[in-house]
Amino acid sequence: MSSLGQFCPTLNLLSLAIVALLTGCAKEPSMAVLETDAHGYACEKCGAKFYTGQKEFLGGKCPKCGEYALADVVAYKCSADQHITLRLKVSGPAGAAVCEQCGAKLKDAMVSPREKELKAWGAVKTNV
Ligand SMILES: [Zn+2]
Ligand SMILES: [Zn+2]
Repeated sequence: MSSLGQFCPTLNLLSLAIVALLTGCAKEPSMAVLETDAHGYACEKCGAKFYTGQKEFLGGKCPKCGEYALADVVAYKCSADQHITLRLKVSGPAGAAVCEQCGAKLKDAMVSPREKELKAWGAVKTNV
């Protein structure tokens, strides 16, 4: 019995490592965070939402109202329901994001918004 007791923890550790490796290969989480196909913006003056392509960046000027009031859009992924919440990038306590679906706090869950998520959010593609 003692040999079994020694064997099991090792096996568990091993299978955990294998699972971590497998999921790491399948999803490539670090790449998913860094890689993005679009950049989102929203105007703090007129509320218009925009996005640009992967290699395009809008300056601070809103294409709609012409004010220099554009803010970057960031996405937060809820670990509970995988829902993506898009919002303006706000620093400090006011930047604490909550999941718009379940209300969970989304601290440290920032991801790069994708084109399809920006579209669904109501952003309009803008050419620089
Ligand atoms: Zn505007
Ligand atoms: Zn949620």
